[in-house]
Amino acid sequence: MERPLSFSDYRDLAGQIRTWASELGFRRIAITDTELGETEQRLFEWLDEGRHGEMHWMARHGTKRTRPAELEPGTIRVISAAMDYWPGDAEPARTVLRDPERGYVSRYAVGRDYHKLIRARLQKLAERMREAVGEFGFRVFTDSAPVMEKPLGAKAGLGTMGKHTCLIDPDTGSYFFLGEIYTDLPLPVDAPAQPDVCGACRACINVCPTGAITAPYQLDARRCISYLTIENPGSIPEELRPLMGNRIYGCDDCQVFCPWNRHATTTAERDFRVRNGLDNADLVALFSWSEQAFLDRMAGSPIRRIGHELWLRNIAVALGNAPTSERVVDALQSRTDHPSSLVREHVHWALARHGHHSESD
Ligand code: SF4
Repeated sequence: MERPLSFSDYRDLAGQIRTWASELGFRRIAITDTELGETEQRLFEWLDEGRHGEMHWMARHGTKRTRPAELEPGTIRVISAAMDYWPGDAEPARTVLRDPERGYVSRYAVGRDYHKLIRARLQKLAERMREAVGEFGFRVFTDSAPVMEKPLGAKAGLGTMGKHTCLIDPDTGSYFFLGEIYTDLPLPVDAPAQPDVCGACRACINVCPTGAITAPYQLDARRCISYLTIENPGSIPEELRPLMGNRIYGCDDCQVFCPWNRHATTTAERDFRVRNGLDNADLVALFSWSEQAFLDRMAGSPIRRIGHELWLRNIAVALGNAPTSERVVDALQSRTDHPSSLVREHVHWALARHGHHSESD
């Protein structure tokens, strides 16, 4: 088929893209242009203040992140796609957060890794577009390259930035992944969503365990438990450890307590359903996994990416915050000779919390 040239052809194509996206499991797609001037300024201020912590990759790509055509030449439009992830079969988040002997895993990570799935679906969507219009320039992304996913999604109208810096869709909440297709097709753009969804609410700011939301729309990644448990490769600052409670991989508090998620949509994707009981697992049991058990059980999970060492580091902190009991202390003592000094340091800290002062490194 010939590539359409008229505005109405592109408008029809945009309508078809929405239908195909829905057939491929995306709740919504929306289209925007590539102008991100204000976002660029805010990003550079954030980086200058060092709020990205050890995420040096955030600073590495210069303006490629905020100017899509510098990353993928020829890009003039971004198709932003949303896919819900909240697993309906998971133990209620607040129930697990209240139980200090259980580990809390961010609900986006209790099932299979979303990267491959979303990427493959976006690729299929782009191929359907190619069947309709012939060859065109495109590249698909999901959390995989320097792409300003949330600002682009907001500009396209998929949601409005909340004070916690996640996108909120007033119809469905904030539990959704984003993916993008950068394209050179001059598709009609959608309007941004409503400018403010928070009003006077400050629930996320008040509930954040570590005070990482330092002001509305300002996140200090260095204090964020998602960063501390996933991106941070080293020691977790001691003053933050008691505040982390039982959160061992990511943190959902700012979203769990957001009023927009009271009636959040649950995912229809089988891949995002709970695997390995990670929605409500016993901390001592998780801490006992050997490296091989970790690698086997976490195959296909985003958690595998942090490796066994950081997994043990995170659980050691949660065990340090658990009520003192023989089984908690025994579990920690079983790791005092772990080959990793990082693990040993967190284990010694946790044992000290239970009144067991061992010789630390
Ligand atoms: S908890 Fe309140 S302030 Fe925070 S994002 Fe939700 S609505 Fe906005």
